[in-house]
Amino acid sequence: MSIKTISKSALCAIYKYSGVMGLQEFLARARGRTFASVLLFHRVTDATPEDGLTVGTERFRRICGMLRRSFRVVPLAEVVRVARAGHVIPARTLAITFDDCYRDNLDAARTLADHGLPATFFIPTAFVGTDHVFDWDLGLPRMRNLSWDETRAMARMGFDIGSHTVTHADLGNVGIEQARHELTESKRVLEEQLQRPIRYFAYPYGERWNLRPEIVPLIREAGYEACFSAISGVVQGGQADFVLPREAVPYFPSVLNLELHLTGCLAWMYALKRRRAASRQRSSVSRSALLPHSVAHS
Ligand SMILES: [Zn+2]
Repeated sequence: MSIKTISKSALCAIYKYSGVMGLQEFLARARGRTFASVLLFHRVTDATPEDGLTVGTERFRRICGMLRRSFRVVPLAEVVRVARAGHVIPARTLAITFDDCYRDNLDAARTLADHGLPATFFIPTAFVGTDHVFDWDLGLPRMRNLSWDETRAMARMGFDIGSHTVTHADLGNVGIEQARHELTESKRVLEEQLQRPIRYFAYPYGERWNLRPEIVPLIREAGYEACFSAISGVVQGGQADFVLPREAVPYFPSVLNLELHLTGCLAWMYALKRRRAASRQRSSVSRSALLPHSVAHS
C-alpha cells in the first residue's frame, strides 16, 4: 500500500470519527438537502486487476457490508418513487445497479443476497448465453456472459432485471428505427424469458452524447418508467426528470473513502479541485498567449 493511499485512508478516518462528517450530514438534513444515489457496477471479479469497470470480490464483499451497515439500500423502484413524489428523501438512500451481463454478476448477486441488498441488473439481450466479447475487453482474460438460466436464477432470487438495449447500441449514433427496435425488442425478449414486466432502461455508454434527445420519447413509448444514464449525480426529491443519473463506483483506496464520497460530504473538496484545475488551465492559456506564435503552437 502506498504512502498516498495510507494518508488518504487516515484522513477519511479522521473526517468520519472526529464528527465532521456527522455534522455535515446533520446540517444537510436540517436544510432538507438529502438525496438518493444510484450506484453503477459492471463486473465483480479477480480475473482482471481493479479498474473503472472492475471491483475485486473481497472489496465487493466489504462494500456490501458497508452499504448494509451505513446506507438505506432500496430497490430502484423506490428511488424513482421518492424522486417523483417530491417528498424529502430519507438520508443515505441508495440503489444498486449493474450493467452488461457479465457472468460474474451471478456471484455478485449471491453476495448481495447474503447481505440482504436489492439490485437491478441491466442486460443487453443479444449477448446473453453467447461468447460475445465487448471491444473494451479484447486482450483481457475471457469473461463469460450470463446465460438465460442464470439470468432467470437471479430474477428468482428477487433481483430486478432491466434493459440495456439488444446490442449495446450507442443511442447517440443510431437512426430512430434502430433505436426503437433496440428499446422494444430488448423489453419483449426480457419479458418473454423472465415472465415479468421490465420497467427500467439504462442506455449504453451512459454519457450525455450517447442519447439523442429525440430518442427519449421513444423510451417512454416503449413502456419504460424511467431511464438511467452513467452521468455522475444524485437524485433529489421532486426530481421529475425521466433520465436519472447514476454514480459509477469509482476506484477508491478504501471502503471508508467510498462511504464518505456517497454521503456527499466530499462535494466541497471536489468543487475546490475543479476550481484549482480550471484556474491552472486559465493561467496556462494566458501564458501561452504571451509566447511568440511559432512557439505557442509547436
Ligand atoms: Zn453497458
